[in-house]
Amino acid sequence: MDPLHARYPFLDGARESVREADIGLVAVVTGDERHPAVERGVERVRRALVDGTVRPDPDDERRWGTRAELLSYPVARVLVSLVDAPGAVEKYASSEADTAFERFTDDFENPDDGLKSTADTAISLDALLAEFDLSGSVRETDAGDGYRVSVGRYLALSSNLDGESWSLATRQLADGAVKVSESELHDLLREAVRQRVAAGLPTEVPDEIRAGLTDEVAQLQDTFSEIDISRDIPILAPDCFPPCVSSLVERAQDGEELSDPAEFALVAFLTSANADTDELLALCGVDSDTRAKSVRYRANRVGDESGAQYAPPSCETMAAYGECPVADDEDPTTDARCDSISHPLAYYEEALDDTENV
Ligand code: SF4
Repeated sequence: MDPLHARYPFLDGARESVREADIGLVAVVTGDERHPAVERGVERVRRALVDGTVRPDPDDERRWGTRAELLSYPVARVLVSLVDAPGAVEKYASSEADTAFERFTDDFENPDDGLKSTADTAISLDALLAEFDLSGSVRETDAGDGYRVSVGRYLALSSNLDGESWSLATRQLADGAVKVSESELHDLLREAVRQRVAAGLPTEVPDEIRAGLTDEVAQLQDTFSEIDISRDIPILAPDCFPPCVSSLVERAQDGEELSDPAEFALVAFLTSANADTDELLALCGVDSDTRAKSVRYRANRVGDESGAQYAPPSCETMAAYGECPVADDEDPTTDARCDSISHPLAYYEEALDDTENV
């Protein structure tokens, strides 16, 4: 199996590899011994719903072989189809696309690093454009300052993206093509990945596979109900933030690059606390257009059109990521309110109530 397909399991070639593998999904799911792809598939969906990424847990990175990683993608598609929760499919597809985006932009910048292993697993811009049948629709400008994308493909890929800047009215349009910057082309490719992942989901699941995944679906359902507790808290009051969020705000404003789970937790918390875009960017210490785009994108993905939205991770998850100062083994923060709650939003609500009562 090609390691490139394990990193980009939505590629046509990856689908072909899965088809050619002498093991079907029924055997993976119902075999006497649990196939590692099932465990990784569960992690894939859980991380997508909770953390906004499908990367393996950093501590587990070396455990998954190419085969398990590749097969975990069809398993994850089945699992997310069986999880009965609003917005799960959309959030799963966005997380797959976000992870692919991180990987392909990194590959474009570091195609080879002088390491054969990197050259084997990296994808090029040309290959990704060809994958989405965009080779004839995207060309570099003569001045080398961006790309021109045929208007039809531009509209198909940008219509779901937020922001006035994607509107055709604000764009240079010439000879049936729209000019975009390099980073905007990457955004369009991320959207192409999201659309491909979302296509066909939720999928019909045969009874045999459904029965084989009962426990895993129940496990994910619990995870989702834990994070689907979000409610409107119409007041933004940084003084009432729990220690974990105050610490994230402080570190972000000091210019620290937060890990994916930490940034997700911060953006999801601030969105739940009704921060508008300017407040969000200020509290996340955003000082560049590129970072602003990424934080805005994450915020838009945290809340969806139907009003359903991710709550930030629970205290247990924050502690597991090393982002709960109260659970810090070496220098724990003491906070009485943290002893009685299990979710940062619950802390915030209690703190707001106490402030109102005073
Ligand atoms: S106990 Fe919960 S609310 Fe308190 S700092 Fe830790 S994660 Fe945050």
